[in-house]
Amino acid sequence: NLTHGMILYLEEISVSFDGFKALNNLNLYIEAGELRCIIGPNGAGKSTMMDVITGKTRPDSGSAWFGQNIDLLALDEPAIADVGIGRKFQKPSVFEPLTVEENLELAMAGNKRVWHTFRGRLSGEERDYLDQVLLLIGLVPERKRLAGVLSHGQKQWLEIGMLLMQRPQLLLVDEPVAGMTHQEMERTAELLTSLAGEHSVVVVEHDMDFVRSIAKRVTVLHQGSVLAEGSMAQVQSDPRVIEVYLGE
Ligand code: ADP
Ligand code: MG
Repeated sequence: NLTHGMILYLEEISVSFDGFKALNNLNLYIEAGELRCIIGPNGAGKSTMMDVITGKTRPDSGSAWFGQNIDLLALDEPAIADVGIGRKFQKPSVFEPLTVEENLELAMAGNKRVWHTFRGRLSGEERDYLDQVLLLIGLVPERKRLAGVLSHGQKQWLEIGMLLMQRPQLLLVDEPVAGMTHQEMERTAELLTSLAGEHSVVVVEHDMDFVRSIAKRVTVLHQGSVLAEGSMAQVQSDPRVIEVYLGE
C-alpha cells in the first residue's frame, strides 16, 4: 500500500507487445500535489505508462496503487476515471459547435444525454466551480464563444478545464505544448503550475525549455524503465541521460 503523501505508486510494471518489452519493471512514485515531468526518447514507454495508469493497457506484471489503497489493476478504464484520474491526450477534443461554457458543463455531466437534462440548471456551487475553472484556464472573455473558433492554445486550455470539471486528484497530460506559440507555452506553464498542490500533475513533454520552466522533478524513461530522476539540472548532467539523447 501507499506510504503517506503518495498519490500514485507503480511498482515493477512490465508490458509486452508481441514479446517486445514496452515497459520493463517500471517504478514510479508520485507525491500528492506534485508536478512531475516525464521525458525520454521516442519509444521509451511514456504513452504505455499513461495507458497502464488509466486502465487502457493491462500490464503483464507489477502493481499500481492510487490514493491511500485503491488497486488500479483491479479497475477498468471508466472506474479509474471515476476514482479521480483524468487524462488529456495530445490532440484537443473539445466539442466545436458548443460554447466554452457548454463544453465545461458537458464535461461536468460526463455525457451529452445527461448534459441535456441538466443544461443551464447547475447548482450555485457547481456554477461557482465552473466560474473558477474558467478563470483558471483564462477563458472568461470567451465563455460564450464557440469552441470551434478558439486558437489552438485556447482549445488545449479548455480541454484541461474540461478535465478539471470532473474534479480529478491526478491529471495526466500528454504533450500539452505541441504546436503552441511561445506565449501560449508560458501561459500553459503557469496553468499547470497553478494546478499542482491541489492536484497532482504528471506531464509527458518533449519540449525541454518547457520542462525546465515547470518541473521540480523530472523522470527520464528509457527502454521501458526509469533511467534517471531528479531536478532538471541533475538529470541533464547525468552521463546516461546525455548518452541516450545524443544517441537519438
Ligand atoms: P513513447 O510514448 O515513449 O514514445 P510508447 O509507450 O508509445 O513510447 O511505446 C513504447 C514501445 O512500445 C514502442 O517501441 C512502441 O512501438 C511499442 N508499442 C506501443 N504500443 C504498442 C502496441 N499497441 N502494439 C505494439 N507495440 C506497441
Ligand atoms: Mg508517446
